[in-house]
Amino acid sequence: MVKTYSVAVLKGDGIGPEVTEATTKVLQATVEKSDFKLNFLYGEAGYHCIAQYGTNLPKETLELIKKTSACLKGPMTTPEEPGAPVSVAVTLRKIFNLYANMRPCRSFPNVEALKPNLDFVVVRENTEGLYSGAEALLAPGVGVALRIITREASLKIVNFAFKLTSQRKKHLTYVHKSNILRITDGIFKDAVKEVQQEYPDVTVDDLYIDAATMQLIKKPEAFDVIVTTNLFGDILSDEGAQVTGSLGLAAGANIGETYGMFEPVHGSAPKYAGKNRVNPIATIMAGSMMLDYLGEKAASAEIENAVISVLKEGKVRTVDIGGSASTDEMANAIVAKLKAD
Ligand code: NAD
Repeated sequence: MVKTYSVAVLKGDGIGPEVTEATTKVLQATVEKSDFKLNFLYGEAGYHCIAQYGTNLPKETLELIKKTSACLKGPMTTPEEPGAPVSVAVTLRKIFNLYANMRPCRSFPNVEALKPNLDFVVVRENTEGLYSGAEALLAPGVGVALRIITREASLKIVNFAFKLTSQRKKHLTYVHKSNILRITDGIFKDAVKEVQQEYPDVTVDDLYIDAATMQLIKKPEAFDVIVTTNLFGDILSDEGAQVTGSLGLAAGANIGETYGMFEPVHGSAPKYAGKNRVNPIATIMAGSMMLDYLGEKAASAEIENAVISVLKEGKVRTVDIGGSASTDEMANAIVAKLKAD
């Protein structure tokens, strides 16, 4: 029997449908030359659902996701009005305890970056910190948000980061602000010290978040794996994406013990919605990370190689990386490369 993985596909808002369709096309082309199948189950989620369902993550979609092995999630517009549903990504990370957010930042051929040959990964704690959603208005004009940091979640993310680092260049940088946030970042720091004992071959150093944002521009080649708390990781990974090229190329994985969700780092870029102009590579690389998570490492590498090969040739380039090709043209070039190889 052919191995079949059910995958939830949430197209999302804004440019979401365009970049997600480009990705399923590429995944389908990969499947055609592999010995496994993908069963795409499409679910409704995102800002556009609120008017109809009263929520951005309808119950039916959640049930559909529970039947799958992984989720490919397009970018979604986050409601900002007080009392509105929280971000779908944040909700899914909590429901499925997707505690590790892994965002590779690497140079691609023919893509202008701050420095050549960059290759580092930002590992971000995904379930707590300032994204705990514990926010309150204490009095008119006085608000408070809780930055929850637990030993349990810190140990989980730090373990994940050490394991990843030990398979790479063996250099881990943990980023914090423990001079100010002594209790919360003290817990995070203690977790690093504890897990470090198990990885004597990994070199560990640390940076305050403010210094880290600066060092990432000054000396990005010095990094291998960065591990940090939720908000700091969100900021550093966007910075990392720009330092290495474009948000249009940056993919992210949200990984838990039993489920994985894969998405571009970028948002729904509403001003480009429907214009067939943005770069689908971030979502396509998220699709490649999904195949790797599912254990289909060869197929994952094929997508990555096809992307690199198209960029190296330099004939098809979207606007964000200095060209004029459309979203479709980029997806089709990657599909053609997959078919040719
Ligand atoms: P954004 O990432 O959507 O867009 C910022 C800019 O980045 C765009 O104007 C565009 O110039 C560039 N860009 C983004 N994606 C690109 C692509 N694929 N190709 C080329 N260029 C690209 O950020 P924003 O405008 O701050 O956010 C828009 C909405 O998306 C907000 O509602 C935000 O909350 C949401 N958001 C969602 C996610 C998610 O679903 N995981 C992540 C980030 C932001």
